[in-house]
Amino acid sequence: MRIEMVEELRARVRRATKVVAFTGAGVSRESGLATFREGKDALWQRYRPEDLASPQAFLRHPETVWRWYGERFRGAASAQPNAAHLALARLAAVFPSYLLVTQNVDGLHQRAGSRGVVELHGTLHDARCHACARRMEMQRALDRSPDTPPRCECGGLYRPAVVWFGEMLPQDAMERAMREAAACDLLLAVGTSATVFPAAGLIELAHRGGAAVIEVNPEATAFSSLADLRLRAAAAAALPALEAEIRGCREGSA
Ligand code: NAD
Ligand code: ZN
Repeated sequence: MRIEMVEELRARVRRATKVVAFTGAGVSRESGLATFREGKDALWQRYRPEDLASPQAFLRHPETVWRWYGERFRGAASAQPNAAHLALARLAAVFPSYLLVTQNVDGLHQRAGSRGVVELHGTLHDARCHACARRMEMQRALDRSPDTPPRCECGGLYRPAVVWFGEMLPQDAMERAMREAAACDLLLAVGTSATVFPAAGLIELAHRGGAAVIEVNPEATAFSSLADLRLRAAAAAALPALEAEIRGCREGSA
């Protein structure tokens, strides 16, 4: 795949000093992990979210929820970062300031080499006590108790350290993401339907703040109209090509 930007966008990419990459489930699609809502194998078309991913579900059926997240953790841990994760990690070296914000909980950005990733929806790789928030590695928690959530010293149950339906996003992560999005000059929105608020607001914040927006998604989204460039392709195909085009723009900037 080859990507060519129009000169106006090239100029904006050439001048960009603050960049935010914002990713969703689509970026991990080519690593074999299902996306959330869309696609044939979307997770919630097979399970009702309220049955598995809410505090109520956990309190009612802790074993079922624990085992399901155990499976998701093993799936994520055995998946490999794809060409999109790797290109997004390499882009950090191209700009003076670069922040990767993800809604994913699979840890693949970190395994691809991205540092300082802001995880808006937490991570599958940790468990935390539902009562006192003490944390433990998910692998350890599952080794200790594969079929039922282990009990914390405080008497509470360990749960996956992800954000469930009806729960608040971690405030520090959300504030950081909003601040950087509002101040950036280029935002890459990759593999996200951007329907989940307030995360969806990041694209709008960046656009209103004057940033160029590049969207990578095989399908149109509610935010496609804001994008200065829409790449209707799978992330693993588009990102290496986008990286090459961005590097080309930057070489002209010295
Ligand atoms: P979403 O399912 O709502 O949207 C996924 C988007 O990816 C869609 O717009 C779809 O068109 C696009 N897409 C599909 N295949 C793609 C590909 N190959 N390349 C690029 N884009 C592709 O996911 P979201 O916007 O991330 O929604 C947020 C929720 O999904 C979060 O709560 C997140 O925690 C959760 N989630 C995470 C994972 C993961 O960590 N891998 C997996 C499933 C769900
Ligand atoms: Zn506890």
